[in-house]
Amino acid sequence: MQNNRIFDLIVIGGGPSGMMCAGRAAELGSRVLLTEKNKDLGKKLSLTGGGRCNITNAEFDTRAFLANFPEAKEFLFSPFSKFSIQDTFNFFEKKGLPLVVEGRKRAFPKTQNANDVVAVMKNYIKKNNVEIKSGMKVTGLKKNEDGTFSVQTKSEETFIGKKVALASGIGGEGVTILEKLGHTVKEPNPNLVPLTTDAKWIHALSGVSLSFMTIRFRQDGKNKIKKTGKILFTHFGISGPLVLNTSFEVKKLLEKGSVTASIDMFPDTEENELDRRVWRLFEKNKNKLLKNILPEMMEKSLAEQILNLPDIQLAEKEANAVTKEERKALVKKMKDLSFPITGTLGFEKALIADGGVALTEVNFTNMTSKIHPNLYLLGDVLDINRPSGGFSLQLCWTTGWVAGSDARKTCIDK
Ligand SMILES: Cc1cc2nc3c(=O)[nH]c(=O)nc-3n(C[C@H](O)[C@H](O)[C@H](O)COP(=O)(O)OP(=O)(O)OC[C@H]3O[C@@H](n4cnc5c(N)ncnc54)[C@H](O)[C@@H]3O)c2cc1C
Repeated sequence: MQNNRIFDLIVIGGGPSGMMCAGRAAELGSRVLLTEKNKDLGKKLSLTGGGRCNITNAEFDTRAFLANFPEAKEFLFSPFSKFSIQDTFNFFEKKGLPLVVEGRKRAFPKTQNANDVVAVMKNYIKKNNVEIKSGMKVTGLKKNEDGTFSVQTKSEETFIGKKVALASGIGGEGVTILEKLGHTVKEPNPNLVPLTTDAKWIHALSGVSLSFMTIRFRQDGKNKIKKTGKILFTHFGISGPLVLNTSFEVKKLLEKGSVTASIDMFPDTEENELDRRVWRLFEKNKNKLLKNILPEMMEKSLAEQILNLPDIQLAEKEANAVTKEERKALVKKMKDLSFPITGTLGFEKALIADGGVALTEVNFTNMTSKIHPNLYLLGDVLDINRPSGGFSLQLCWTTGWVAGSDARKTCIDK
């Protein structure tokens, strides 16, 4: 094997965890090769946070931060004690990309542009002389007798890595590679995903949001899940952090049968009180059409859709012509705006998918495989459930940095 094909560390995958690992190992002096099957590094990273990149969550107390990873917090304490949330802030700030904190402690680059995060990471690896092979898909990983790995590519090239870091995200070849190496891999499953409906009137509300409502998910006439917060209507259904964080439970319900969503648009107002408010509105605007006065209580397009529902049909009626029964039906609708949930948006739209390597097979002090001590497992490759809000990317920064630091240390030892 030619020397130029032998590396201290080969990183498979040029996403956030792979770039962090490669940059860190090279910064400490390792000879590193980074392989990425796409033409460009960090493609997914550039789409994160709706193009703004929710880079981490500014909960600086590690224990409080890790409380968001209910099944994994004990495992994660060690790597997070080596690279914390504060370290992420410092890392990006030192590289000229300060972060700002928004609601729910979500941190974004001050520039509000995910491409700037990609640029910082690309610069980090280039500056430290990581050899980059993009457009190169890894198809297999073979462990050699001396503990090194032969990395095989689709173009039938082979490289030797004294160490290898698998940072290939979920799905695809990563799973096959891991299974062949004897790891237990839970099949990925879309987790944080928007919910779909076939109710056309919901699609027509695309872009409208309700900043304070309660949503219930019903099955067989019983309320199964209840959440209060903000919701976003989309051209396929409903989304927003609250929906995303509930989608896993809704998906489980859908496996058992049909599910109906019901939105209470005025969760802190009793039905009687809401009826009085609507009555006062009608009294004040006796000769006006409902489609012109209901927007006083809600977004115009939402009022229009509700008034045109088949069981309401009040858009073109004047307030003084509305019967008591019709008014009560309208109020009821505002407290119980229901529509069927038909499913979840698929894998490609999942913000996070669960699945990956079983945590008991990972040595979290340095992010190596317990089966193969020269193999690092990073980012989404690990089976860690977490909410949206910057937690996934922080997992990438931490696991990547810890592995990169360790790779150098152990290479010197050899
Ligand atoms: C639309 C969207 C928005 C998101 N927004 C946020 C957010 O704002 N904040 C947040 O914390 N999380 C967010 N996430 C989740 C976050 O993007 C992921 O958790 C994160 O990208 C995982 O990083 P990773 O390095 O583990 O893997 P990935 O980012 O998936 O990168 C893996 C890389 O490996 C490459 N690869 C795969 N197989 C091979 C192979 N065989 N050979 C060579 N290369 C290979 C892939 O092409 C890819 O570039 C979002 C996810 C999505 C889909």
